[in-house]
Amino acid sequence: MALIVQKFGGTSLAGPEQIRQAACRVQETVRNGYEAVVVVSAMGHTTDQLLGLAGQLTDQPCRRELDMLLVTGEQVSAALLALALQALGVPSVSLNGAMAGIRTEDLHGEAQILSIDPLRIRAELQAGRVVIVTGFQGVNPAGDPTTLGRGGSDTSAVALAAALKAELCEICTDVDGVYTADPNVVPTARMIDRLSYEEMLELATGGAVVLHPRAVETAKANRVPVTVRSSFHAGAGTWIGETKEEAGR
Ligand code: ASP
Ligand code: MG
Repeated sequence: MALIVQKFGGTSLAGPEQIRQAACRVQETVRNGYEAVVVVSAMGHTTDQLLGLAGQLTDQPCRRELDMLLVTGEQVSAALLALALQALGVPSVSLNGAMAGIRTEDLHGEAQILSIDPLRIRAELQAGRVVIVTGFQGVNPAGDPTTLGRGGSDTSAVALAAALKAELCEICTDVDGVYTADPNVVPTARMIDRLSYEEMLELATGGAVVLHPRAVETAKANRVPVTVRSSFHAGAGTWIGETKEEAGR
């Protein structure tokens, strides 16, 4: 069975209604005959709020404790999305970074993924469950949680797609796709249908916030096809692949 990795960002999981909508989206993927691994960000502005709380207690927070704090945000969304799917009758299970086998270097706050051991995820898929994985986090060699840097759940999604040899990594977000410029600022900006990894990398490093540069690098290195599309309505969004032609397959 073909597998799709679907990632939902914070605005797509901002409250119960959005989480329910995301669950319906995942249900559709399953109904279309795919196995689904879903990567989630923290709800809304949770990560900023958690950092704000820490900031009220100290100017120099210990980075390990910050990671202990921040990983909770994605765990909340993962568990809630699992509950929403189960309420729809879709068997599902949520896993944190360590449970999902995402191993990182020992660098709190900006760790890089070293390897992913997908054994547990595969077993859950085999049992017929949708697997929801917390984005933005992994586990270091000491067994402590680490985070990948702000916006890191895009990278989690692409790295999981590579490790699981997924057919596609779908980034579901609050815009329809990748635009030539910020449509809120430039009214003539238009959505781009297809991009090569290089073109996307240029846009991402140039400040297009829709996809994290490290995620694009990971996609390029592992030749993972990526789409960026709206969480809230249908629409093909933007395809990103090896070449424009391949991206349009
Ligand atoms: N929640 C984290 C952040 O806000 C990770 C992410 O959203 O990708 O940076
Ligand atoms: Mg976030």
